[in-house]
Amino acid sequence: MASNPLTFRPHLRDAQIKRENTKLEGLGMIRKPIVSAANSNTRILSGSRNLVGDANRVAQPLEQPNCRISMNIGLNSTRMREVMVERLKEQGITNSKVLDAMLSVPRHAFVDQGLASRAYDDAALPIGYKQTISQPYIVARMVSLALEGATNNRVLEVGAGCGYQTAVLAELYNEVYAIERIKGLYDLGYENLSHMPNTSHIHLIYGDGLKGLPDVAPFDAIVIPAAGLDIPQTLLEQLVIGGRLIVPLGDVRQYLVMFERVSEQRWERTELEQTRFVPLLPGIQS
Ligand code: SAH
Repeated sequence: MASNPLTFRPHLRDAQIKRENTKLEGLGMIRKPIVSAANSNTRILSGSRNLVGDANRVAQPLEQPNCRISMNIGLNSTRMREVMVERLKEQGITNSKVLDAMLSVPRHAFVDQGLASRAYDDAALPIGYKQTISQPYIVARMVSLALEGATNNRVLEVGAGCGYQTAVLAELYNEVYAIERIKGLYDLGYENLSHMPNTSHIHLIYGDGLKGLPDVAPFDAIVIPAAGLDIPQTLLEQLVIGGRLIVPLGDVRQYLVMFERVSEQRWERTELEQTRFVPLLPGIQS
């Protein structure tokens, strides 16, 4: 199925860039031992019911998603982000560039007004269509892993959702490509990002991210905030050598997995903490 990439610029919203038709191929990767247990869209800590409970704290999906900037949280939001960043440090996020990016992107502007007061909680929140904005910790964790690869120029995000992580990536990369498969969420992400400064280097695309963007590749990093069972070879081949793909994988139990391309034909797989993400699905939803 062809995707329909759109450069993210309001006046170019309907400008079609290119179609691409890469075939999907499964890849049998060798599992490495788990390095540590724990995280997600919400994070899972073994032995901690509180944090497992994050998923339970997620309110019901919204029928009519509305992610406009909440006015009544505006005055406090800088302070709330500072508190969030302090918490991220306590949770082990050390990359100062990532912490700065998390400090500058207003997460409350990406959730429904009714949830804005919870925007800086350590929780995933519903964004409609049975999808969630990822927990701040897991955004920071995935972006840190991506950024600590060899080079940091161009990134691909598969699963733009409401656009929050896209905005964080835009603070850190010169070129950001973000794909969303659900049209309503693509529209929502587009609307949310259009209120942000610093967006001329974001390319928001409505399409199936499992195909990647072979015409744009290679990417220094590919970040996938949705859980699959395996990752298509075509995506791994869209990494530069030294580049990293970060994705949660698994069914009943999901683990964050990092694939690092170490040569033309070799990818090193590292399995990290346990996570809980919404599913990575093929095709598009209109
Ligand atoms: N980064 C987002 C997280 C959204 S949840 C945020 O901060 O809000 C994950 C998203 O991945 C969902 O919106 C879901 O529709 C999308 N998704 C799942 N499979 C996909 C695919 N094959 N291509 C593109 N998007 C996909």
